[in-house]
This record gives sequence, structure tokens and C-alpha cells, in this order.
Amino acid sequence: MAIENDMELTKLYENKYCLNVFAPMPIAFTKGKGVWLYDAEGRKYMDMIGGIAVNSLGHGNKALTKAISDQASKLIHCSNYYMIPQRAELAFKLCSHSFADKAFFCNSGAEANEAAIKIARSYFYYKGQPEKNEIITAKMSFHGRTMATIAATGQEKFRKAFAPNVPGFKYVDFNDISALEAEVDDKTCAVMLELVQGESGVHPADATYVKQVKKLCLERGILLIIDEVQTGIGRTGRLFCYENYDIVPDIMTLAKGLAGGVPIGAMLCTDEVATGMKPGDHGSTFGGNPLACAAGNVVIDQLASSGSTLLANVNSVSAFLFDKLNALKEKSDKIVDVRGAGLLIGIEFDSSIQAAGMKTRLMQEGFLVSAIGESVIRIAPPLIITQREAAMFVNALAKILKGSRK
Ligand SMILES: *Cc1c(COP(=O)(O)O)cnc(C)c1O
Repeated sequence: MAIENDMELTKLYENKYCLNVFAPMPIAFTKGKGVWLYDAEGRKYMDMIGGIAVNSLGHGNKALTKAISDQASKLIHCSNYYMIPQRAELAFKLCSHSFADKAFFCNSGAEANEAAIKIARSYFYYKGQPEKNEIITAKMSFHGRTMATIAATGQEKFRKAFAPNVPGFKYVDFNDISALEAEVDDKTCAVMLELVQGESGVHPADATYVKQVKKLCLERGILLIIDEVQTGIGRTGRLFCYENYDIVPDIMTLAKGLAGGVPIGAMLCTDEVATGMKPGDHGSTFGGNPLACAAGNVVIDQLASSGSTLLANVNSVSAFLFDKLNALKEKSDKIVDVRGAGLLIGIEFDSSIQAAGMKTRLMQEGFLVSAIGESVIRIAPPLIITQREAAMFVNALAKILKGSRK
């Protein structure tokens, strides 16, 4: 049964057999190339959301697809009972390009954050301080959908239907150092933050705030966990977003863009923090398998090998987009804010424009974005997007804004 090119049957089965947690738009894509996605009728769309910051190298990247198909034909999976060369190589690359000494691999962002939460607690447990087990996170944060990560997420709406929630989490206002200072006590084991809050509307952390958080963590003997599931892997113009802030975390989590679309997650930490895990304390059946790690190795090579121009491209297209979007904001009173970092950008509209409606209008014009809440659209295109392609998006947005009346 080939349903791939049958949109009616796809719709029917999606609605009848798939758990209705996503409410997907009635469109399906059959192939992609670069920043472009194609539906079964051959209509093309510019993918300005990139699978939510996942398709870092765009669609159909030659080196990536070759590495995946070569690896698949040799060995897709083998157990963590054995050594895995592709995993060893990816761990080496991630550690040599970051603050970290050790890497653990899993399959998603939530799982990476689970590993971070577990090691933050077990680190103090093995130091003989099991009472140091509370984690402070930010209001409006997002850390995943598992039981511990919804407890870490500072938004009630993700937790309320799933009580009893995992205990040991406290939430403070983002970008407010006194709020954090007031909550830290002898039970605090870690502070966990995104440097750009992606899922709640693209809100960047202030530079001074992040420095103050780091200082507070050092003074109080608290671990700093940075959730780079969305901001990592070149998204904000550096390989890791923490590099923009001139601090180093103790623990960092990665996922979305790390393997260019193959499911993967990673938790990285210092040797000191790594004393919090002994053989048998944590694991994952699929995590670190040869296929996912082979893909991850290509992504890191393309971003971080000498002579790579990909990060430079992120920075130049980002500067272009901020420039043009801010110019659009000056001209149109319907845009109230343009914010973010690198190629993770939120555009906030005034009350005359509904984000969901704008998302649909952009789709009609052939551009895919995500809508957050009532008023924000987010873009997180593949890192390979060109200035010319970015200009097409800005022009489409300008055209829609011109046509919409107050
Ligand atoms: C997407 C996201 C997650 C969750 O990742 P999944 O792969 O969906 O589990 C966690 N943290 C942040 C910051 C994210 O953007």
C-alpha cells in the first residue's frame, strides 16, 4: 500500500489512526532539497522552520545522505554492550569543540535533559549530599515532554493534566538575577536554563544575567545546566550558544540539529560532573547507535572543520534578516518586535495580526514557519539558507503585511 502520494488517504488515516496531539496542517511533503520542500503535487515551499531547528544542513545534503546510507548498509544498530566507533568519534568531536569532557547519547532533547537532571542529582548523591537535589528553572522555559522534563518546564499548561508531577523543581522569572538569588538554598543542586527560550516565543537571555547566574552557581556550589537542544549546533552563529555569553556550563544538552534530522540527543558534562554516573546508573537502548552518530559526525564536520563557511553564513544571513525585518518593523506598525539570535528569530505582531493566521498566509505564499501563542511567528531555517532565499521570505512577509488592514 503506497499512501505516500495519496493526500486524501493520508488525511483520513492521520485523523483516524494517529493520536491527535499535533493537529497537523493538511499538507504532506514527499521530498526536499536545500531549504525547499515539495508536496506530492510538486508545489514547493521554503522551509523557514527546518523541522523546528532540526534540518541544520537543509534537505538532501549529499554528504549527510551518503553517510547515512553507507552506514545503514554496513550496520544500523548494535548494542551499547559493545564499543561503537561512530559514537566514539562524535563524543571526541563534541568534547574537543566545547567545554565538555564527556558525552552521553540518547534519542531526543527530552531524554538529553532527563540525563542532565539525573546526573545533577546523582553527582551530589555520590558526594554524600543527597539532600542537594532541587533544580531551579526559568518561567516560560521549555525542556521537553517526559515526566521529569515537564516538571522542569516553567509553564503550567504542560504539567497540569499529568499530576502528580516529579518533585524538586522551582521556577523563577527569566532574566531576573534577584529572583534566582532569592530561591537558591542549601537544597539547590542545579540551575537549568535555555539561553534563548525557543518554545515560548524566542526570548534571549541578557548577557549580564547569564554572567551573574554563572557567578552565583560558582559561589554557591551549584551546577549550571544549559539546555542547547534548540540553540546548539550552529543555530545562533556559534557552534554552541553559550559561547556568545562568555561563560561555560557544567552540563549541556543537545538534540534537534545535531544529526541533521536523524533522531539523536546528547548530554555533555565536565569530568567532575561525570563522577555522578557509574556503570549501570543510566542508559539507552538506541542512544549512540552507529547510524545516528554517523549522521552527527557529518553535521559537526560541516560546521566545525577548518575552512567551513557554514557558521559565517549563519551570521551573515542572520544580520541580513535582522536588518530587513527591523526595517519592515519601522515601516509597518504591525510588527512590534524582532528578536532572537543567529537563525532563530521571533517576529511579534500587534493584536491586529493573529500568529496562526499569519502562518497560514505565509504557507499560501509558499513559506513554512511556526506560530507561537497569539502573536509570534518563529523562523529557524536550515543553516545553509542563502541571503537571496532569506530576502524572498522577507518580501513575502512584507507583501502580506501590506495587504492586511487594521
Ligand atoms: C525541543 C526542545 C526540547 C525537547 O526536545 P525533544 O526532542 O522534542 O524531546 C527540550 N528543550 C528545548 C530547549 C527544546 O527546544
